[in-house]
Amino acid sequence: MTDETIFALASAPGRAGVAVFRVSGPGAARAFVDLTRRALPPPRRAVRVHLCSPATGEVLDDGLGLWFPAPKSFTGEDVAEFQLHGGRAVEAAITEALRGLEGLRLAEPGEFTRRAFENGKFELTAAEGLADLVNAETEAQRRQARRQLEGELGAIYEGWRGRLIEALAHYEAVIDFTDEELPADLSRKVNHKMLGLKEEIAQHLDDKRRGERLRDGIYIAIIGAPNVGKSSLLNALARRDAAIVAETAGTTRDVIEVHLDLGGFPVIVADTAGLREAAEGVEREGIRRAEARAAEADIRLALFDITLWPELDAKTLALVNDDTVPILNKADLLGPGQGPGVPGVPGVKVRVGGRPVVIASAKTGAGMAELLECLESMVSNRIELAGSPALTRARHRDALEESVDALSRFAGASEEALAAEDLRLAARALGRITGRVEVDDILDVIFRDFCIGK
Ligand code: GDP
Repeated sequence: MTDETIFALASAPGRAGVAVFRVSGPGAARAFVDLTRRALPPPRRAVRVHLCSPATGEVLDDGLGLWFPAPKSFTGEDVAEFQLHGGRAVEAAITEALRGLEGLRLAEPGEFTRRAFENGKFELTAAEGLADLVNAETEAQRRQARRQLEGELGAIYEGWRGRLIEALAHYEAVIDFTDEELPADLSRKVNHKMLGLKEEIAQHLDDKRRGERLRDGIYIAIIGAPNVGKSSLLNALARRDAAIVAETAGTTRDVIEVHLDLGGFPVIVADTAGLREAAEGVEREGIRRAEARAAEADIRLALFDITLWPELDAKTLALVNDDTVPILNKADLLGPGQGPGVPGVPGVKVRVGGRPVVIASAKTGAGMAELLECLESMVSNRIELAGSPALTRARHRDALEESVDALSRFAGASEEALAAEDLRLAARALGRITGRVEVDDILDVIFRDFCIGK
């Protein structure tokens, strides 16, 4: 345990009904007594406190105080918490008062959680789950983060690591006691088990990035020729209740994104610059970016001008595939009997590039409900929570791949010592995910993503 005592505002800064200050470390008890000028209350019981300036004795604010002696606290250290009034001036005064106490310093981002991890309060994937929960914007993200925080993902990896260590113990026995009698078919059994484990990990990896996509959001690019109504469509989508944030980036030629909550799933819709052949300068750069975004998008909305039917833009048409929703826009401009339709066959959908189209008007909002419904089912197909928890970060994926590679080498190893080494490497790779081994170098990277007070 460290002898440094850290403190921070644990709630969001600014005007609020309540602000929570957290103090953790060996100086937490002293801080409680010095600031409240009263004895420590019984553990985990809220008491009314007045917080005073240690310098002048002036009452800075009043509220509730809580005392969590180690190890039964969030960090596993002595923790004092104060629930005060939220507001810039209160925050500044309390921060000043805490800073004035000897041995106290402001916490770094994620430092409380890091201490909790270091004191064995939870494993690394659970700590990441906590960060994801704090950042969750939609229902499905919240659910995934909760499962990870509860340790479901960590338990899977720890279980696998346990099986590897068991197999390793067997191999070490074979190496150390070659003269002793070991059941002959034991090695075969162990090898068989490891083959099964390799399969299990490989299956877990073959998840079409569901967990990562849910964490990051599904990326949808709107593509189409200039003036087909891409910006108008994005605006129409952003005006819906589902829009979380509307971000406007750089110039009109840049990529503009809107975050939507589609039935609990996070979605980022990007408007891209028009696809056009003879563009120059800035516009060409815009188009290059648009094409790059469209290429990496999970889903594409291919927009066409319905008034040009059946002459559809060839460049956009060429990009229609199974991940695309073709949309015929500006339907409000059609006169009676104009435009596409399948005469005499009611209910049969018009198709473009083999995909059923949505006929819409970004101007009147016609077809938007149908479009969102269609998108929602495409999105949920791609990231619906499966029965077992999915890996959520590239960090997990890298380590799991390393583990599978080691198990592949193990299967082909020519002698016991090499086989044992491969098992050791496979176990170590898994241990890095939950933080059981050699993680110092990656801790900084992980906790850097937290905010202060977490
Ligand atoms: P972009 O270049 O593809 O982003 O197209 P814009 O969204 O800027 O639209 C180009 C023009 O078409 C603008 O004048 C829009 O008002 C108009 N427009 C877009 N969608 C519709 C629509 O559904 N109906 C009608 N009548 N006009 C539209």
